[in-house]
Amino acid sequence: MAFVITSACQNEKAATCLAACPVDCIVLAGTQYVIDPDVCIDCGACETVCPVEAIYPQEELPADELGAIDLARNYFKP
Ligand code: SF4
Repeated sequence: MAFVITSACQNEKAATCLAACPVDCIVLAGTQYVIDPDVCIDCGACETVCPVEAIYPQEELPADELGAIDLARNYFKP
C-alpha cells in the first residue's frame, strides 16, 4: 500500500518530499507531484515533511481525493 499525493500539492509544489524520499519515487507530473506506487516502500517520510499535508497513506485518503490513486498509477504505467 503506497502513499499518495493529493490535490493540495497543486497550489504548493514545495518539493520537500523529494529530498525526504529514500527511494526517489516522487516526480513532478504536470500540475503536482506523484508517487510511484510500485517503488514506494511506505516509510512515511514524505508525509511528515509536506508543508500542506497533501500526502496520505492510500488507505487513509479522503473520499474526495480517491482520484489521486489513478493519477499516480496512470502516470507510471508503462
Ligand atoms: Fe518515498 Fe517513503 Fe513517501 Fe513512499 S512513503 S514516497 S518511499 S518518502
